Amino acid sequence: MMNKTTPYPQSTSYPFGFLDVYAKREIRRAVLKALALPGYQVPYASREMPMGRGFGTGGLQLTLSVIGPDDTLKVIDQGSDDSVNAVNLKQFIRQTCPGIDTTTETPKATLLQSRHRIPEVPLTEKQIIILQVPYPDPLVYVEPSEEIRKTMHGEANYARLWVKLYEDIREYGEITISHRYPTRINGHYILDPSPIMRWDVPKLHMSRAPILFGAGREKKIYAVPPFTKAEPLTFEDVPFRTENFLDDSGNRLACRRCGARDSFLDEFTTDAGEKVYQCSDTAYCTSRMKRAGMKRSPEVDHA
Ligand SMILES: [Zn+2]
Repeated sequence: MMNKTTPYPQSTSYPFGFLDVYAKREIRRAVLKALALPGYQVPYASREMPMGRGFGTGGLQLTLSVIGPDDTLKVIDQGSDDSVNAVNLKQFIRQTCPGIDTTTETPKATLLQSRHRIPEVPLTEKQIIILQVPYPDPLVYVEPSEEIRKTMHGEANYARLWVKLYEDIREYGEITISHRYPTRINGHYILDPSPIMRWDVPKLHMSRAPILFGAGREKKIYAVPPFTKAEPLTFEDVPFRTENFLDDSGNRLACRRCGARDSFLDEFTTDAGEKVYQCSDTAYCTSRMKRAGMKRSPEVDHA
């Protein structure tokens, strides 16, 4: 117990990156192991963060463990830099990591934390992307016991996952998984790529930037190292396909702000009941508009 003459610590400020040095060290070790065993889920002692689990605490702990004062950070949520969740995370990281820069422009970021999307602009070997993960194990659909799932992963025994995909095709004519598409990494482990859309799954393959996944509630870290094979599970006669964004006549829909026909589009309904489409990656959209010297048109609210 503290006696009366013992002063309280003069400074109540947190260390750089909020986490203490032991927590960071453990997380960095888990990251190294995850990079050495592509797709393997490394358990770690997920810390309590000053926000609820489910709000990106796994991604946040990764970011805080690898960020340095020279980093430039970008945080997005569903492709948007301005959503409440992204803004809150960015503000917290900025407060606890003095000296870092933040940006919305993908090419300027050295570290990116994201939920549900990988930016449209291809990432480089000078960048790291961190994805927030709610459910890390793709086998959870077919096997409730974690112990058994671990053995199945170790033996690359994914027969029951294949059966599930097959049943999907038999019932619906195609694999109906829209996000969290099971993907085999480096020919062995199958991972859950977090709730990114199918559109983003091919970006995992031979990515120049390391991709780190953090599941705070489930206490798992896993990774796709740079230049690593990533194959979405498919059958020879039912190839993997991404969202195609075609209209009824088979033409590619365009973003209503920047006119892009090569981006992942979000669908909105206007007050008049008309369906409109807009780039989900707001930074990509804005940079295209800037380059074309277009005026900002009213943005549809992403919230
Ligand atoms: Zn656009």
